[in-house]
Amino acid sequence: MTLRSQAKGLLMGVAGASLVVSGMALWLVRGAGGSPQANGAPSLLDILEEVRQPRPAPPQRPPRPAPPPPARVVWRSPLGRSCAAADPALEARLRALLAELPSRTQRLRIHPTNYGERLTRDAFGNPLDPTPRLVVLHETVYGLSSAVNTFLTPHPRDDDQVSYHMLIGGRGEIVEALDPSKRAFGAGNSTFQGQWAITNPKVGGSVNNFALHLSLETPIDGEHAEGAHSGYTAAQYDAMAVVLADWMRRFSIPAEAITTHRHVDLAGERADPRSFDWGELRDRLNALGVVC
Ligand SMILES: [Zn+2]
Repeated sequence: MTLRSQAKGLLMGVAGASLVVSGMALWLVRGAGGSPQANGAPSLLDILEEVRQPRPAPPQRPPRPAPPPPARVVWRSPLGRSCAAADPALEARLRALLAELPSRTQRLRIHPTNYGERLTRDAFGNPLDPTPRLVVLHETVYGLSSAVNTFLTPHPRDDDQVSYHMLIGGRGEIVEALDPSKRAFGAGNSTFQGQWAITNPKVGGSVNNFALHLSLETPIDGEHAEGAHSGYTAAQYDAMAVVLADWMRRFSIPAEAITTHRHVDLAGERADPRSFDWGELRDRLNALGVVC
């Protein structure tokens, strides 16, 4: 093939290509009105338009009803309602302590494996109200520093993860382990007054998503005993009362919604807080004017 014939072949190729392009342009113009072509097939513009449309999101699974908790004994609060005049010395002491609460509170940064976020949907897609509306009382069994160390330690296994929002030491120490906006892992399978939230089907329903957890340091004689122990100190009841009064006001929690781990636990394995004196707490909450 000579150079000239090569050039001629190239020219013919270009001409042929331009014919194909102009034919396509004609086809586009014919279909430009968006109306189906004579044979009823969609035009190329229709197809291009369809491709440009955002794809609809895959349909979400509709919520399924969550299983209700098993029927339980109704909680009858030992606190009751009281507007009785309080001992002036007690009232003055507690009001001073309440005013000092922000500066007296020690705050920890516990390991993130030991707590979670309060969720707004359960495992079945139903909306959840994550606002705290229940207080669960516990005891640490071992000393305050042992509980603090446990919360600071990473726990990769679900079964080992544990936390409370607040710890109250035997000398009245107030330790906030977790902000109330977060979900503490204070109770496992649990319910209160016909309510639970199933956020982790492996655990079953729990009160954790709407609970605040407070734990009292156990006295030394309670560390290895199964039953009762010598109880909690006056400084502990004072500190607990001001923390509870603060929570009750901030989250509109009534005294009837202060309960025990023993009551909410569905496994029947928890007995805490042992040797708890409701009268001591009632007198202090009355003095602070939150059970009237
Ligand atoms: Zn407990």
